[in-house]
Amino acid sequence: MEAQIKEFMDGVRMKNPGEDEFLQAVEEVVETVWDFYQENPHYKKAKILERMTEPERVIMFRVPWVDDNGEVHVNRGFRVEFNSAIGPYKGGLRFHPSVTLSGLKFLGFEQTFKNSLTSLPMGGGKGGSDFNPKGKTDFEIMRFCQAFMSELYRHIGPNTDVPAGDIGVGGREIGYLFGQYKKLRNEFTGVLTGKGIEYGGSLIRPEATGYGAIYFVREMLAEKDDSLKGKTVALSGFGNVAWGAATKAVELGAKVVTLSGPDGYIYDAEGVSGDKIDFLLELRASNQDIIKPYADQFGVEFFEGKKPWDQKVDIAIPCAIQNELNKEDCELLIANGCTLIAEASNMGCTAEAAFLASEKISFAPGKAVNAGGVAVSGLEMSQNSMRINWSEEEVDQKLNQIMTNIHKVCVEYGTGFDGSVNYIKGANIGGFVKVADAMMAQGIV
Ligand code: GLU
Repeated sequence: MEAQIKEFMDGVRMKNPGEDEFLQAVEEVVETVWDFYQENPHYKKAKILERMTEPERVIMFRVPWVDDNGEVHVNRGFRVEFNSAIGPYKGGLRFHPSVTLSGLKFLGFEQTFKNSLTSLPMGGGKGGSDFNPKGKTDFEIMRFCQAFMSELYRHIGPNTDVPAGDIGVGGREIGYLFGQYKKLRNEFTGVLTGKGIEYGGSLIRPEATGYGAIYFVREMLAEKDDSLKGKTVALSGFGNVAWGAATKAVELGAKVVTLSGPDGYIYDAEGVSGDKIDFLLELRASNQDIIKPYADQFGVEFFEGKKPWDQKVDIAIPCAIQNELNKEDCELLIANGCTLIAEASNMGCTAEAAFLASEKISFAPGKAVNAGGVAVSGLEMSQNSMRINWSEEEVDQKLNQIMTNIHKVCVEYGTGFDGSVNYIKGANIGGFVKVADAMMAQGIV
């Protein structure tokens, strides 16, 4: 089996040289679905895995824009339309200087499985740009978004490809992108999700990824007859995901003690709650991308240039960017008594860290844990199609149900002979089946 996986991966590696993040994401899936793949020869005959690891389409384009001083800049824009077997391509746009084709291919690939797990009809896609929003003025952000959409609009549509936010793309950016799409197409449709409430957005969408992650962690703990009550939690990041996760974790009785930014992390022994959580919104609006002001404002410790994984906590939830928790971090967390790691960011752990964590403690991957964001995007699409708005309670209840169900699917496909749950395997096989069966039904296209 090892040799067959290696042969398969050699093929993928040859086709995608140097795309380390994409190869990491593919390898994790291939390793965990391989047995299942062999047991179902009809998939193998139709080369389902070979087809799933090749994006249906990749669009790459120039994004020229002018800053407030009249200087011209050129960024690169991307949209990776990975898989449309179960619905229109769906996934966020990331604006961050680290964005590359490899990164977006990994995210689009993961998104296909994640969206399948939500049980909603959404294919997988991802896009973005190497544009750095940090320190840019509102007008510069608007001009960049308009320039980006001036090309993207011809490739997307409510029944074709429905982008949303991701790192660096929040409500403000979605507004500018939507405005430009509407102007160019002369059409008011649900072509983007994460929209403002006034123009077709869904309640709970901003909170959804973080809330969903905590609902999933609650289920992981319940599986072991445990709960969030009294648990200490380390979060990384301080954006949308960390904000939602902190809110829900506190509501369910946990204490959040860390947050981080590119500049370091803060440790709040009293717990991040109430006004302190609201302060994160102010921090984000300042567009500076640093967490230190939290420490200054509330008189807590700030650890410059460090990650929060050296603290003694029960639960660690990476909420920032890929590969932000490595093997050494994982060893340290476990040595300090941590018993659960859940990725709220996409591929927040390196492959070694994820492997170690799933051997020693409870570990769940991003495609299951953070699926709540895209799930509520799916609910936003439904509301747009039906031209209705659901209440906060209705959306939250549906989100809760979806996360509970994803957990069930992970348990169904990931439970081993000893009764322990391998969430990586459970999520990968659970996500794979629906997409594979849809591809089988649609022929070789
Ligand atoms: N960017 C988010 C994710 O990684 C949300 C995507 C969406 O809402 O379409 O799942």
